[in-house]
Amino acid sequence: MSTPPDISDQLRRGIAILGSTGSIGRQTLEVVRRFPDLFEVELLTCGSNTALLTQQAAAFRPRCVVVGAKGKVDAVRAELSPLGIEVRAGAESIPEALEMKAIDVVVAAMVGFAGLPPVLKAAERGLTIALANKEALVVAGELLSGVVARTGAKLIPVDSEHSAIFQCLEGESLESVDRLILTASGGPFRDRPVSTFDTITRDEALAHPTWSMGRKISIDSATMMNKGLELIEAHWLFGLDPERIDIVVHPQSLVHSMIEFIDGSVKAQLSLPDMRLPIQYALGYPTRLPCELGRIRWTEALRLDFAPPDTLKFPCIRLAYEAVDAGSTAPAVLNAANEVAVSLFLEGRISFNNIPLLIEDALDNVPLTSCDSLDALEWVDAQTRRHVTELKRATAN
Ligand code: NAD
Ligand code: MG
Repeated sequence: MSTPPDISDQLRRGIAILGSTGSIGRQTLEVVRRFPDLFEVELLTCGSNTALLTQQAAAFRPRCVVVGAKGKVDAVRAELSPLGIEVRAGAESIPEALEMKAIDVVVAAMVGFAGLPPVLKAAERGLTIALANKEALVVAGELLSGVVARTGAKLIPVDSEHSAIFQCLEGESLESVDRLILTASGGPFRDRPVSTFDTITRDEALAHPTWSMGRKISIDSATMMNKGLELIEAHWLFGLDPERIDIVVHPQSLVHSMIEFIDGSVKAQLSLPDMRLPIQYALGYPTRLPCELGRIRWTEALRLDFAPPDTLKFPCIRLAYEAVDAGSTAPAVLNAANEVAVSLFLEGRISFNNIPLLIEDALDNVPLTSCDSLDALEWVDAQTRRHVTELKRATAN
């Protein structure tokens, strides 16, 4: 696709992609590939998929890559050093790599709590953060919002629902907003009787009806914890109290979310479900770039259905509302317990129904504490992981 000539100079941006080998990371590189005059890749990072990282680096020629899995670094170095690409070892060196001057936009596409330190670092540097890693904002909403306010960093959501709300807010003031309506596909078990939930297999839970995503967010979608995390994400991004944020099941995944204004008028953003669109919007913001990925065919018969979620069937939604209401470190406990429970489910060690039970137990028992520093949040995260792991061990005997 050709780049509109008048915008390339003003838009040219150096991009860091944290988690470039994941679902969002790979799709970000597809967007970058379509706009070679606008975006230059400066930094790529991965956990352990070094084969793909090496291919990506050879194709996009960043200045630096960071490999989370330290045991694999020598092999990566052997391939990339001759190309003049610096190779750093361990996820803990990502914040340092973000000090490179050439970086303008950080695509935060790592999964889970592990993505928080680099997001905080990017915010400290006052950079633009294209935020996919919702867990960072769930865990550290207050801390991150404070840093962003102090440094002038910009948080541009990549999550499709939040991108939709962000787009609808253009030209509007927050004072004119009454409610946010987050849409949810309902996941693979929307119509499955709850009486059969105990027999849900890993493969069934990983098979999302509309989106192809990483394993953790796929399980979060199946339990609908993903929508709970997105509720907390929306609370921090847009500053609305949770009781003014509704969750609505919309199986077609065409309406990505909506705003209801104080006059009762509703604004929505619609498009085919394709994450490359919100990624591209975040990379180009405030310029809207052309996209030929596919369009809704309005002249053909089209249905848009909406229904309230069943919170008895999907208790994770209730747990997320309770955690954000409790405030303090409760969302960090919710997130850590969920990360452990999802891993245990993926390893075949607990049943699907046990995921919300473990999270609820952690919320009831892990004490709330201060959430004003990364150290404090790391402590809560570790405490919660220990609590859930011990509970699992105790109940297995
Ligand atoms: P994924 O599992 O496909 O990719 C995760 C990436 O992070 C990989 O590159 C992996 O190597 C890296 N990573 C994981 N743990 C790491 C660690 N400890 N240290 C260093 N690197 C590590 O995940 P995804 O589906 O791309 O999701 C990424 C984030 O975006 C998640 O927070 C998810 O909730 C959010 N998100 C994803 C989608 C989607 O469509 N996939 C949509 C909205 C939001
Ligand atoms: Mg989403």
